[in-house]
Amino acid sequence: MWTEYQTRLDIETSELRALLSAALAGDELEVQDITRLLSVRGSDVSIVIRAADELRERLVGNIVTYVKNRNLNFTNICTGSCRFCAFRRSLDAPDAYVLSEAQIRTKVREARDVGATEVCVQGGLHPDFGLQDYIKLLHIIREVAPQIHIHAFSPAEIDHICKQEGMEVSEVLTELRNAGLDSMPGTAAEILVDRVRALICPEKISAKRWIEIIRTAHELGIPTTATVLYGTVERPPELAQHLQIIRRIQRDTGGFTEFVPLAFIPFRTHLFATGIHHPPSLSYSLLVHAVARLVFAELIPNIQASWVKLGPDGASLMLRAGANDLGGTLMEEHITRATGGTRTSMSESQLRHLIVRSGRIPKQRTTLYGILD
Ligand code: SF4
Repeated sequence: MWTEYQTRLDIETSELRALLSAALAGDELEVQDITRLLSVRGSDVSIVIRAADELRERLVGNIVTYVKNRNLNFTNICTGSCRFCAFRRSLDAPDAYVLSEAQIRTKVREARDVGATEVCVQGGLHPDFGLQDYIKLLHIIREVAPQIHIHAFSPAEIDHICKQEGMEVSEVLTELRNAGLDSMPGTAAEILVDRVRALICPEKISAKRWIEIIRTAHELGIPTTATVLYGTVERPPELAQHLQIIRRIQRDTGGFTEFVPLAFIPFRTHLFATGIHHPPSLSYSLLVHAVARLVFAELIPNIQASWVKLGPDGASLMLRAGANDLGGTLMEEHITRATGGTRTSMSESQLRHLIVRSGRIPKQRTTLYGILD
């Protein structure tokens, strides 16, 4: 974690102000600059946050968006072993589950009936699931809610299907797109640096593979989100490198709709047992959101604060540090709850109230950031 980062990069406040002025003037921040911003302490954190807030206002104004959606975690059975995860279960675990077709239909119907515009579908890497199972899932959703946007399957799941079937990424994505897939969550990115992945998710897809799958999706016209998991063992230069990788992809493809910083919640995870007992500090969360805003600027104009990870009050604080979106209503959330998260859904009125209380203008959006209000 950054607090353990021994070779701290000291930065004079005057140098910091010059760096931020350059960023606000449109200069691209190099990895070394980003590392410096992620290394500031004390009152300098507020200076970075203020600059990010200024850039947010200039780029996207005072509107804060949200999407009415439903999470659908169709199985928690997973062959993975990510050390930050408390959601996965083995095939024979007493609380392992696979949603039945009837349960999926009911959940999608409920989402449709409350006016959700999106279902967000993710699950464990089930050892018996192949391409046809994923296609069937898409067909069921389409049948129940023909108009709903299907935001589904992380790059880790796409890789899983490729391995199960012996198929290329582009072949799998084309099949899924033809079956109704509209966009993909850019989860499973964690930190796109091998040292960190070796410590927190050694068996997960490599950084190279994540990039390959995301680039292929974008080439095929499937937009994705971009994420980062922060607060585990990463150091500032590694987080900076992650942001640079995302920025490069976006410059080439334009396929990212938003960037979502995800705070690590350690409870009940393997990493807790190795000594990480606390989620990242508020100060670090503010800095990560602010630096993301400064790095991505107009390239990725939407920075999402996750109320699932930070709680509603924490997420609303991120709105002062460059964020302009609060994500979805979800209706149910299982992945973070497994690690000790307490909120599993937010009603539309709760989200709107939170936004208004933060002095901003709430607007419902589509998955792809079309304004619906
Ligand atoms: S994060 Fe996903 S892939 Fe990793 S163990 Fe958990 S469910 Fe499996």
